[in-house]
Amino acid sequence: MKRIFSGIKPTGHLTLGNYLGAVRRWAEVDQHQADALFSVVDLHALTVEHDPGRVRRLSRQAATLLLASGIDPGLATVFVQSHVDEHARLSYLLECVATDGEMRRMIQYKEKSARERSRGGSVRLSLLTYPVLMAADILAYGADEVPVGDDQTQHVELTRDLAVRFNQRYGQTFVVPRATPPEVAARVMDLQDPASKMGKSHEAGAGIVYLLDEPDVVRKKILRAVTDSGTEVAYDRESKPGVTNLLEILAACEGGNPEALSGVYESYGALKKDTAEAVVELLRPVQERHKELVADPAYVEEVLRQGAERAREMSRPTVDRAYRAIGL
Ligand code: ADP
Repeated sequence: MKRIFSGIKPTGHLTLGNYLGAVRRWAEVDQHQADALFSVVDLHALTVEHDPGRVRRLSRQAATLLLASGIDPGLATVFVQSHVDEHARLSYLLECVATDGEMRRMIQYKEKSARERSRGGSVRLSLLTYPVLMAADILAYGADEVPVGDDQTQHVELTRDLAVRFNQRYGQTFVVPRATPPEVAARVMDLQDPASKMGKSHEAGAGIVYLLDEPDVVRKKILRAVTDSGTEVAYDRESKPGVTNLLEILAACEGGNPEALSGVYESYGALKKDTAEAVVELLRPVQERHKELVADPAYVEEVLRQGAERAREMSRPTVDRAYRAIGL
């Protein structure tokens, strides 16, 4: 059976982008087809300025939302990254295989470090090495596939490079994984700024739909989405980024093709209205299940405890093998 690993950072409240780009597929497809692990990758939340209590709260909230999204602990392993030491253990070995040049080429590092500097802040070393820890997350489990949104594909490419390099130098140790982004909505854009992706760690704003937004809030945000000049509903990322984003979201909700959908609509207004209703319906069952789960935090804790135990058992043999192979 193939193995799948993916993760989510507890750096903010989960967004529609996280759901359409990753989490929904984890629940609907991946856990049924593979031996799947889904992790709340809390170590990754420490790479930028953070509030310890908030990270802890957001970790539990993210785990609760994964379960509310339909991830079944009877099928998949759900756990918090920091509960399993193997990630940090393996990350160091991979730092001894990666080069500083390839880390500095990572687009997310360039963007995020520039943002930190422009605010007058300093850049944590962990922001630079973050993709190495992510490689460790994936390689420790021998994952074949990594279902992620578009923004993470460069990091999975790096993971492949590190796995191949390690195997060549020190003997066959790691499975070389591949990224599997979704066909539709691989990069959901901010509704107010369709040039940048909808990201949970971005400043909360009218352009971000959160999984726990009330139906009326979802409607308001989508109806007020920035659209493009002209009136024609056309699928074109360059000249119509706002409309194209809405078409992607609607197609992802309904299971259609975004380009084909553009022919159905004659006005921006009708497209927005249908998109808003589709998103409200998409989120409804997740929100209902979330209400039940927050009432039972002990259940979520127990799922995470068992998940960490299983994850430890699954990763230790590979990480031990890597330690021996590299000469320790
Ligand atoms: P964020 O960037 O929101 O902090 P994470 O880095 O925790 O999200 O990513 C969790 C998963 O959600 C990853 O697979 C990532 O590719 C996906 N993802 C994040 N934002 C988007 C988006 N706007 N569109 C599609 N997928 C996304």
